[in-house]
Amino acid sequence: MIIRNAVDAVAAVLFPAPCRICAQTLITASRIPICTDCLASFQPITDPMCDCCGRPFISKVAAEAIRPLCRLCRLDSFSFSRARSYAVYNDALHSAILLLKYEEVTRLGDWFATRLAEVVARQPAEFRADVVVPVPLHTDRFRERGYNQADLIARPLARRLGLKRGSYLLMRTKPRPARLVLSRKEHWDSVRGAYATREGVRVDKLRVLLVDDVLTTGATLDACSRALKKAGAAEVLGLTVARVVTGLPPSNPQPRREAY
Ligand SMILES: [Zn+2]
Ligand SMILES: [Zn+2]
Repeated sequence: MIIRNAVDAVAAVLFPAPCRICAQTLITASRIPICTDCLASFQPITDPMCDCCGRPFISKVAAEAIRPLCRLCRLDSFSFSRARSYAVYNDALHSAILLLKYEEVTRLGDWFATRLAEVVARQPAEFRADVVVPVPLHTDRFRERGYNQADLIARPLARRLGLKRGSYLLMRTKPRPARLVLSRKEHWDSVRGAYATREGVRVDKLRVLLVDDVLTTGATLDACSRALKKAGAAEVLGLTVARVVTGLPPSNPQPRREAY
């Protein structure tokens, strides 16, 4: 511990770096450029939650059902079997995801993958899978950015879980609308039929772990899941780093409205 502290102190003096979220100087030699205060402001999602889509419940009442489901999942809206997220999409996590998305901070992808592996470890039987698939970007966007942020999470996650990564299995065939902010309905419309499996690939009977950065309405995971199941996937399980949660008590910061 003394050595560790000494290493941190030396690192802080030799390589003073600011936290990429709040700009205070990092005092520990962390692998990721985020300070402990900002990390502590992430709000991991824990039980009770919807057993299907992972929406957190405010009260325990709903959780007492045999299979606790939210209103949407009781209507059988989603084609994936289950979705879980590491934490609530609050301001701090939003900033962290922007670092991954636009600045390719790969170490943050590793860190998120570790958090998602912990989520999987809570329900090992339910999240047993054969392959990890990142939600793909449309080719135009991929060319523009040069990488897919979901893949920066999927790659270390597959390694951690000892699974194959199938980033070639799925593709986005319809580009995202140019407008940044979409209504809930526009979002559903924009992703409906927007994904397909690549011709000739086999996903027959595979259990797919589908990975994305943010779950907003669940429409993207749903559209990907439909494409995979149409191609024969046995089951699709969704994992995202963040989840937009509305209607939490005021002590929780409200998620900011983000472009889908
Ligand atoms: Zn910070
Ligand atoms: Zn639900």
